[in-house]
Amino acid sequence: MTPRDPVTTVPDFRCGYVTIIGRPNVGKSTLLNRLLEQKLSITSRKPQTTRWHLLGIKTDDRHQVIYIDTPGIQTKHKNALNRRMKREALDTLQQVDVIVFMLEALKWTETDEYIFSLVRERKPSLIILINKVDKLKDKSALLPFMEEIAAGTGGTQDIIPVSAKTGANLDVFEEKIKALLPINPPLFPADQISDRNERFFASEFIREKLFKKLGDELPYNIAVTIDEFKDSEKLVTIHATIWVGSTSQKAIVIGKDGLVLKTVGESARKDLEAFLQRKVFLKTWVKVKKQWAENESALKQLGY
Ligand code: GDP
Ligand code: MG
Repeated sequence: MTPRDPVTTVPDFRCGYVTIIGRPNVGKSTLLNRLLEQKLSITSRKPQTTRWHLLGIKTDDRHQVIYIDTPGIQTKHKNALNRRMKREALDTLQQVDVIVFMLEALKWTETDEYIFSLVRERKPSLIILINKVDKLKDKSALLPFMEEIAAGTGGTQDIIPVSAKTGANLDVFEEKIKALLPINPPLFPADQISDRNERFFASEFIREKLFKKLGDELPYNIAVTIDEFKDSEKLVTIHATIWVGSTSQKAIVIGKDGLVLKTVGESARKDLEAFLQRKVFLKTWVKVKKQWAENESALKQLGY
């Protein structure tokens, strides 16, 4: 995905950055994937699946929206990895044009309150998105909740209820976003959908399959590095290392008779083949790096 010349511009073309922020698990990555009709960001029931910021770029003939998926802000864990994730989420707030603050329908937690305190004083336009409305059995509870949120947040910004999962009301959301973008020529070519390269997606897809396969057994602080990514016309050869914190975690990731690692590798390979549109040969190793999430220098060594 190398940048090429931007698309030719129309006079009042609008382009800008939109960051999606909110507590873990509200559905930020699901929204991004839905908007782009592409699986870019990995999602799961387990909080903290998204570890890095990721751009998702959506272009039509008059607009280019550059969405930023951020790691969820949480207050529980305070190790080096989490400090870095929070810093990254907050850094993006300084430079964007629109902030989308995502909530979950009928829930307002202390973490939401805390995040709102971080975004309310910022310059960019703010939209409050209430997600997961499809889960509501009683839809009439939504309106009083929206009124409560409006009253509690000063009432000046738009509050839009949506479902990232079903796509309900996302057209309203997208129209609103487009109207808030500044007049600017596009920054990316019309066909570019992300700022990340294929190596990045390879490691993210493997990480996602691990989450899906192991669920709560898996410590969230797992890392995947790509040691080799050889691209020939018909075949991509990928060597990946899964880094864990202890030998017992290593045993879990490999599984009995190597079965866990085998299943993870196979499903990651299938997704990668669909994404890269080529055959993939994927080889994985599991290695122990003691307490890497606690340690800044270990993070640096892994390229974070
Ligand atoms: P993030 O941590 O904010 O990025 O959240 P994710 O996008 O990873 O989603 C967390 C969980 O919520 C996943 O299990 C999603 O399938 C689920 N989810 C996300 N959006 C919706 C929605 O609109 N409706 C329902 N029912 N579930 C959703
Ligand atoms: Mg996410």
